[in-house]
Amino acid sequence: MQSKQLKLTHLVIFLCLFVFAFSTHGTANQKDGLLKIYFFDVGQGDAIFIEAPNGNQVLVDGGPDNAVVQKLGETMPFYDKDIDMVVLTHSDADHITGLIEVLERYDVEKIAYSNIIRRSALYNAWQEAVAEEGADIIDPVAGKIIDLGNGATLTILHPTESLIGKVLEKTNNYSVVLMLKYGESEILLTGDIEAKAERQIILSGANLDADILKVAHHGSKTSTIEEFLYEVSPQVAVIQVGAKNRYGHPTQEVLNRLENFGMKLYRTDVDGGVKVVSDGVNYLVNTVK
Ligand SMILES: [Zn+2]
Repeated sequence: MQSKQLKLTHLVIFLCLFVFAFSTHGTANQKDGLLKIYFFDVGQGDAIFIEAPNGNQVLVDGGPDNAVVQKLGETMPFYDKDIDMVVLTHSDADHITGLIEVLERYDVEKIAYSNIIRRSALYNAWQEAVAEEGADIIDPVAGKIIDLGNGATLTILHPTESLIGKVLEKTNNYSVVLMLKYGESEILLTGDIEAKAERQIILSGANLDADILKVAHHGSKTSTIEEFLYEVSPQVAVIQVGAKNRYGHPTQEVLNRLENFGMKLYRTDVDGGVKVVSDGVNYLVNTVK
């Protein structure tokens, strides 16, 4: 009798360990019907990895160096070397640098970016990597909707018109802005837009209401105006920012504005990576630290 009980206990322990191992090693390609958004801690820059409910993968920006490659390695299954879509919000170094290495290492099916003309060695390297990749190119213009499958969509809210062939050196206000939707969950990704673009987006009449806001431009005081926050009215704000960066991001002004709206704030310099999981009705936020 006693040995039978012992065996049963062993079995229960074994099953618990198995379930635990399965859940902690759950990787990006499990088609579990959940939308997952990983705001990677890549220092002073943005890199956001989206896993759609059907397993489709989207990477928005690549951060200031190749740290994103390690983050992808930790998040995706080791055998998975395909990414369905890469989005470059704009071509500043803290968004574009890591993406060049991602194009080298991964087979990317679609690339969404504004094919502008810019005098920058990094941008030239990006253009070369894009040409070599041979992916389908999506020109991001407000109104386009990208179907991620199983009811998840990415709607482009900005820029308002195609920028192909335009000569631009300052690109923050031309950042690609994306509304990610899955059921009742809405996540707004803003690149580095500043007040000017925030006003343009409000005037466009787009529905900005979202649960989660990726705060624009790392919390710079030139972004995140009150009217914009009012339109978005998020419950949660995420700032991707490096510790002790030389820009003083995030600024106290923006932190105060976020606090006045009473939202829960996550910062990658304080919390490490931030992960959001949604089943289309409810969402959960987890942090690495
Ligand atoms: Zn930036």
